[in-house]
Amino acid sequence: MNQEQYFRRLPKVDLHLHLAGTLQPRTLLDLARKNGVSLPTRDEDRIYRFRDFYDFLDMLERIARCIVSKGDFARVSYEALRDAGAAGNLRYAEMFFNPQYHYAHGIDYETMVDGYIEGIEAAEREFGVVGRLIPSINRELGPDAAVDMVRDLIENPRDRVIGLGMDCAEYKGKPHLFAEAYRMARRAGLRCTAHVCEDNQTLEQAPPSHVIDCIEILGCDRLDHGYNMLADPAVVGRCRDCGIPCTVCSHTCVASRLRTRWDNISRMHEGGLSLVVCTDDPPMFGTDIGQAYVTVCEELRMSPAEAADLSLAGIDATWLSNDEKRGMRRRFKAEIDVLMAALDSSSEGSARQEASRA
Ligand SMILES: [Zn+2]
Repeated sequence: MNQEQYFRRLPKVDLHLHLAGTLQPRTLLDLARKNGVSLPTRDEDRIYRFRDFYDFLDMLERIARCIVSKGDFARVSYEALRDAGAAGNLRYAEMFFNPQYHYAHGIDYETMVDGYIEGIEAAEREFGVVGRLIPSINRELGPDAAVDMVRDLIENPRDRVIGLGMDCAEYKGKPHLFAEAYRMARRAGLRCTAHVCEDNQTLEQAPPSHVIDCIEILGCDRLDHGYNMLADPAVVGRCRDCGIPCTVCSHTCVASRLRTRWDNISRMHEGGLSLVVCTDDPPMFGTDIGQAYVTVCEELRMSPAEAADLSLAGIDATWLSNDEKRGMRRRFKAEIDVLMAALDSSSEGSARQEASRA
């Protein structure tokens, strides 16, 4: 096995994955047809091309309109876990969904959450990939709507719903505005994260100070993205010192931004931040969890042992119980040992072949 295959086959968690962003083009076209939603194109190769971040967000909202029945929701979560297990040996995911996208079309919280759970349970039975859910606030709709959403999820608790997130355009909903929604979630025992400082928004739109607000005002114990904090070394130092994990994503909505993204991830790594490699919206960005690891491990010139540490660090950043983390760590380590042995023997084999050719 070569190193790229090894990176791809490492057991992984993904803690930053939006269910509405996991539909393969064929599934999206299918659901759009079934539910009478018009899309900008029916060409599978062109459907996920975006001018910029805001164009991408429009598409995400349109995709959400295609997911209507409990069965549609189940199909989406089932396929997300199935595909990620096959593409990159995903073993566990904490996945976002935006109830507010669906409220707008008259769908109640129970339909979406129970549909997603049905798909997760089926994928777990068939592929052994475990999933949990994080309802995510659409910050563009403001704090009052966020409080209503959090009330809904508190009134309809589900074991698989373990946290609260927040996403969409950061300048339209600064973190501090959502203190009440987050306070309610924490009191109900939910863990908290938020999208912050994404690098396809400017420093004015998504400044480093928002990271501090997410930690101090919202009580986040994990952050999604975080790249723009690099503009303020004091904020980087704060995150490094408290060890808060950042879910970084190897791919983004506009290909011309990839180089910047990879440089930012490298700088965050060099800055000693705790990183979890994730996918965000994999088919929309032309990637999967296997490719995400290949990209980041190659960019960071990681050795096989360092890549294994990266995969294990992902477990620490999950919101599983300590017992569950210990169990997962044992299973990951056993798999990694087998992969390491396969990597060693094939690289020794190719070294022998080269020696015999010489
Ligand atoms: Zn995201």
